[in-house]
Amino acid sequence: MKVYKFGGTSVGTIETMRTVMNLVADGTQKLVVLSAMAGTTNRLVEISDYLSKKNKESALGIINSLEKKYYNVVFDLYTTKEMKEQGKRVLEERFDFIKSFTSGVFPEYGGRAILAQGELISTALFTLLMQESGHNALLLPALEFMKIDNDKQPDNYYIKDKLNTLLKKSPKADYYITQGFICRNEAGEIDNLQRGGSDYTATLIGAAINSEEVQIWTDIDGFHDNDPRYVENTKKVDTLSFNEASELAYFGAKILHPQTVLPAMMNGIPVRLKNTMNPPDPGTLITSDSKTKGIKAVAAKDGITAIKIRSGRMLNAYGFLKNIFEIFEFFKTAIDMISTSEVALSLTIDDPKHLDEIVAELKEYGKVEIDHNQTIVCIVGNMIAEEKGFAAKVFTALDHVPIRMISYGGSRHNISVLINTNDKKATLQALSNKLLNS
Ligand code: ADP
Ligand code: ASP
Ligand code: MG
Repeated sequence: MKVYKFGGTSVGTIETMRTVMNLVADGTQKLVVLSAMAGTTNRLVEISDYLSKKNKESALGIINSLEKKYYNVVFDLYTTKEMKEQGKRVLEERFDFIKSFTSGVFPEYGGRAILAQGELISTALFTLLMQESGHNALLLPALEFMKIDNDKQPDNYYIKDKLNTLLKKSPKADYYITQGFICRNEAGEIDNLQRGGSDYTATLIGAAINSEEVQIWTDIDGFHDNDPRYVENTKKVDTLSFNEASELAYFGAKILHPQTVLPAMMNGIPVRLKNTMNPPDPGTLITSDSKTKGIKAVAAKDGITAIKIRSGRMLNAYGFLKNIFEIFEFFKTAIDMISTSEVALSLTIDDPKHLDEIVAELKEYGKVEIDHNQTIVCIVGNMIAEEKGFAAKVFTALDHVPIRMISYGGSRHNISVLINTNDKKATLQALSNKLLNS
């Protein structure tokens, strides 16, 4: 059974929801993962922020306008009175739940519970739409099988077991519909797979049911060779290997949640990226195949902090790196890039939550310097960090950009540079003009 995932813009209006229904209902059984309607999760974040700041009035203002929007959706989406009534009941239940947080003390889990409502609404409304049109569609509650552990990582065994049991005991359907993004945590609370996490849900489900293909349907014709939000002349890439796609997703290509590729890669499941508004286009196919050599695409990840430790103690010393890395391990902070010289070590992190504590500990080992507002630009392709000529091309293209760090040779398919975020747009554009389009 194939897994199809549709993002927020694909279910963002009544028209696109109908388009999605027609794409789904092609007679072949599938499992459909949906995001919240475009914009909803951002509204829910605002509601939760206001409630955590005890600003109930502002929260209620957004809740009421969101509720009104959804009542209009329900009014226009269905043709029969019965379905309009069923749609209204979905909204009543969901909005009563959201409003229940506007009185009393706002609990710690409240924000995550509110954030989940977008997907709960979109999937319930979409299932009713399919049923009204005579399709055999069934809603599968993701909160019954999607789970993360205490490290916020998906519990693959639990997901596989619970989802397959649920599929076995449910009535047979042609189209199973479920929520992307949302899950439960170890404490049983409602949680999520981080923003953009519906892509991740799709490949986790694909792995759990051993799907023959996961299709991620979005608002663009596939994976582009550069970020279309910053660069004008980007082109679609027809194929990517799992390794290439996972590097690009991890280093900021918004089209895929950073961890999406992993479950597909581990289980050899092809992932296809497709455009909901242009279904005949084959999109981008991601598989284990990486025959074509050369530079494929670039991506950029913002919000990076660079840390430099200068120490005389590094000279001829072993165990120095171990001591430094243990500090990061203790504070559960991942390191992305590393560069060493005989007297200094530079590394980057993307989560500055424990920066002050980390710096305090690092000072034991030497002088510490911090650079905020950094961006990792990741250049990805097959064999590019092994065969001659590719590195020269990259650095020629970037001859006017101040580069803070370089990572080369960590893998064969990645050259990364660290730059100031203010130089990001110019860097990406230069890579398109002088490298990708030359
Ligand atoms: P969805 O709501 O369907 O999940 P997203 O907004 O999360 O869609 O992802 C699609 C968007 O990702 C595109 O509209 C595009 O602006 C952005 N994007 C960033 N980098 C790339 C890239 N390399 N290729 C294609 N799209 C990209
Ligand atoms: N609705 C969630 C978000 O906006 C998940 C997703 O769209 O993938 O982040
Ligand atoms: Mg997305």
